[in-house]
Amino acid sequence: MAYDPGNIFAKILRSELPAYKVYEDDRVLAFLDIMPRAAGHVLVIPKAPARNLLDVAAGDLAAVMAVAQHIAQAQMQVFEAEGITLTQHNEKAGGQEVFHLHVHVIPRHAGVELRP
Ligand code: IMP
Repeated sequence: MAYDPGNIFAKILRSELPAYKVYEDDRVLAFLDIMPRAAGHVLVIPKAPARNLLDVAAGDLAAVMAVAQHIAQAQMQVFEAEGITLTQHNEKAGGQEVFHLHVHVIPRHAGVELRP
């Protein structure tokens, strides 16, 4: 499937929409999810256009995952998390709603369910 540059995260990358940024480098942006499933829920995206896991360049995927690891390590401290959940959806049937690759990094606490 083709990449649509009109998607919400592409607009955030072009500063056409606001985001609460928590990390940025030349290849990756991380920002808070607007509807967090738990406090501190972060989305990590490549700056290069990629619809999802199925078409992302390997180097961009590696950069995204390296940042996701750093975010997770920080969440363990900042939110006193007891664990971290990573989720990543691909195409509509896979649960994807925004068609720019993103990895959800979500702090978890024992016995606390994710918000719907
Ligand atoms: P998906 O189902 O993996 O595609 O998840 C898309 C995520 O993007 C959801 O968790 C939404 O809450 C989140 N989201 C949608 N619009 C925005 C926004 O403008 N800023 C931050 N997060 C957003």
